[in-house]
Amino acid sequence: MSVKRITICGEPILRKKCRNVQNIDQELIKLLDDMAETMSKRSGIGLAAPQVDEDIRVIVAGELPEGDEEEEEITLHRLINPRIIEQEGEVEGIEGCLSLPTLHGTVLRPGRVVVEAITPDGDEVQIEGEGLLARCLSHEIDHLNGTLFIDRVEEDSLAWMVPDEDEESGYRWVATTIEEARARFEKLIEKRRENQ
Ligand code: ZN
Repeated sequence: MSVKRITICGEPILRKKCRNVQNIDQELIKLLDDMAETMSKRSGIGLAAPQVDEDIRVIVAGELPEGDEEEEEITLHRLINPRIIEQEGEVEGIEGCLSLPTLHGTVLRPGRVVVEAITPDGDEVQIEGEGLLARCLSHEIDHLNGTLFIDRVEEDSLAWMVPDEDEESGYRWVATTIEEARARFEKLIEKRRENQ
């Protein structure tokens, strides 16, 4: 398994409508493993293929254990051609995205979703998610259609999470706008290009 480079808001692949997967082959299995590795290294709870520069419909989504037993591992769903077949309710929650580093904002998401998908073994599955898992599945499936959380965010809630040793939490929030965020990510992309 290897850790992949994560694409940044402003790179065209994040705005593409991704293709359905036709064949499950070794290359696809490796991609899913690399996505799982990349997600856990970067402390994400979900990742979609365009975030590792692939325009195909696959996602990984972590399901946190119920209760607060710290030792329990998260369950990782590797999903091919996922689609939401049922959704219910609307819940506000704070969201971030590895492709929009340190940016957060409030997004309305369904409180419950049922997702139909194919597993790497070729089996058709239905996954029901509530709360954080519903949010994660909805966010990742959005990526496959070129939609980012800033397209759905309540704009006056947008803020950067800035490390700050003086704060008890270790960080503070700095309010921003979509335009300012876009400009900052453009600069980040430029900087990466220069360093290549
Ligand atoms: Zn994301």
